[in-house]
Amino acid sequence: MIETDVLIVGAGPAGLATAISLKRCGFAGRVVVIDKGCAVGSHVLSGAVMDPAGFRELLTEEEIAKLPVEAHVNRESFRFIFGAKASMPIPWVPPMMQAHGFPVGSLTKVARYLASIAERLGAEVYTGYAVTELIERDGVVVGARTGEKGLAADGRPKSNHLASEEIAAKVTVLAEGGAGVLTDRLVEAKGLAGRRPQSYAIAVKELIELAEPVAGSGGTIMHTFGYPVNLWTYGGGFVYHVSDSRVMVGYALGLDYIDATLDVHEIFRRYKATGAVGRHISGGKAVAYGAKVIPEGGFYAMPRPHALGALIVGDGAGLLDGLRIKGIHIAIESGIAAAAAIAETSADAAAVGERYHALLRATRGYAEVRRVKNVHGGFTRGAPFGVAMAGLAWATFGRFPFWMFGRRHRDSETMRELRPGALEAAARCAADPAIRAFPDRLTDVFMSGTLHEEDQPCHLHLVDPARCEACERRFGSPCTRFCPAEVYRRDEGRLRIDFSNCLHCKTCRIKCPLENVEWRFPQGGDGPRYTMM
Ligand code: SF4
Repeated sequence: MIETDVLIVGAGPAGLATAISLKRCGFAGRVVVIDKGCAVGSHVLSGAVMDPAGFRELLTEEEIAKLPVEAHVNRESFRFIFGAKASMPIPWVPPMMQAHGFPVGSLTKVARYLASIAERLGAEVYTGYAVTELIERDGVVVGARTGEKGLAADGRPKSNHLASEEIAAKVTVLAEGGAGVLTDRLVEAKGLAGRRPQSYAIAVKELIELAEPVAGSGGTIMHTFGYPVNLWTYGGGFVYHVSDSRVMVGYALGLDYIDATLDVHEIFRRYKATGAVGRHISGGKAVAYGAKVIPEGGFYAMPRPHALGALIVGDGAGLLDGLRIKGIHIAIESGIAAAAAIAETSADAAAVGERYHALLRATRGYAEVRRVKNVHGGFTRGAPFGVAMAGLAWATFGRFPFWMFGRRHRDSETMRELRPGALEAAARCAADPAIRAFPDRLTDVFMSGTLHEEDQPCHLHLVDPARCEACERRFGSPCTRFCPAEVYRRDEGRLRIDFSNCLHCKTCRIKCPLENVEWRFPQGGDGPRYTMM
C-alpha cells in the first residue's frame, strides 16, 4: 500500500493547479498526482484560447512568460453560418466573448509544462495508471485503488500482469475532467447532484497544417454558430490560427439533441466544407485529431463538489462558463481553492470539504458560472431565443431570468425515435463529394494516436446486449453516429465494438438512449496519445 497526504486523480489543469498551489502555500505533506494517460497531457484536449486569469493566480511572471503558447489573439470574429456557402459576420464580437490578447495553443503542452512546475516544487506525478475505484471507510473516502494491468480479454492474468495498488490518502482530489467515472459514482452515491442533471457537448477537433504559411495569420480566431445544425440544436464551431502555418478547427455539438440521425463526425466534416471555414484551411492537411465532452449544464447542474475525504475540481464539478465555453481558468481557480482548503485544515477529511466549497464560491470563476446560469437552458428553445436570453442574463449579471430555465432531462432522454426513411435521407446528404474530401472517421482516429492493448477485457460494457436490438429498431443504433471514433458499428445484424479506437470521450455513456453502456477503465497507459491538442 502507498500512503500519501493528498492524492490527485487526473493531471489536467485543475489537478496540476491543486498540486502546484499546495506546494506553493507551504504544504509539507506528500502530494501524488496520478493520470491514466501514457504521458502527462496525452488525455487532455481543449480549444484552446485560454483566459489568462487562472495562470496569473497560479504562476509567477517568469513562469507565465514561458507558457508553451504559440500566439496571442490579435484578430477575432463571430459569424453566423446559414449554409454551405452562405455566412454573415456579426458586426461586433459581443463583449463577453472577446478574447483579445488571450494565449492560443495546445492544452496538452500546457499540462506538460504545469506538471514540470509541480514536480520541481516537490509533487510526484505518475502516468500510465488508471485509478479505478475510491476506497471508503465509515463513509469517508480514505484513498483509491489503481486498476490491474496485463489482463487477457477473458480476465486471466498474463505474464506481464501488474496487480492493483491501494493508495491511502487523507484527502482525494478528483480532477478527472467531464463525465469522470469516479466523480459520477461519488456524486450518485453521496447524493451530491445539482438541481438538474449535467448536460454535455461533444467537441471534436483537428489540427491542420497549411500548405503554405500565411504571414501574420497567427492569433486570428473565429467563432461560429448555425449551420451545419439547425436552429433548435445547440452547436457551434471555432477556427483558431495557432501560428502562421497551423490552424485548429473544432466543433461542439450539444448532447441534448433530439434528432437520432445526427452524426457528430459528419457534422464536423460538413462544417469544414463550408465557405466560412474552408477559406481558413484551404489546401491544408490534418495532422492531429481528438474529442472530449464538455460539461455545459451550468450553474444549476453543478454538483456539491465535496464529500467526506474527497474534493471535486475542474470540469467534474461542472465549472465551465457556458457562454464563452471557457473552463481552463475556472478549473485552475478550483484547484487553487482546493489546495488552500487542504492546507488550512491540515488535510482534515471532516473539515476540508466545507472550507473548499466556501473558497470556491468566492472565486471569480464561480461568479462567472453563476452569471451565465441560464445560457444553455435558453438554447433549448432555439438559437435566436437562446442568444437573446444569453445577452439578457449576461447584462443583468445573471439575475434575469431568475427562475431555472430549460430542459431538466438527462442527455440520454432527449432523443426522438426515428421516422421512416430518416436515415436514408441523412445518408444521401453525407454522400456529398465536398464533404468526403475531408478525413473520414478512421483516418482521424489514426491521427489521435489512440492505442489499446487488444488482448484485455473490453472497457465498454453493454449492460444488456438485448437492449441494442431494441435501440436499433427505435433509434437506428445512434452510437454508430455519436461516437467520434468508429468504435460502434453494425455488422451482419449485430453491434460490434472496436474498443481499441476509443478516445475516452465518454459520449456513449452519456447519450446512449437506453443507457446501455457502462464505461469501465482500460488498462492504464492506453487511450489517446495527444501531443499537440
Ligand atoms: Fe467516446 Fe464512447 Fe466512442 Fe470511446 S466508445 S470514443 S468513449 S463515444
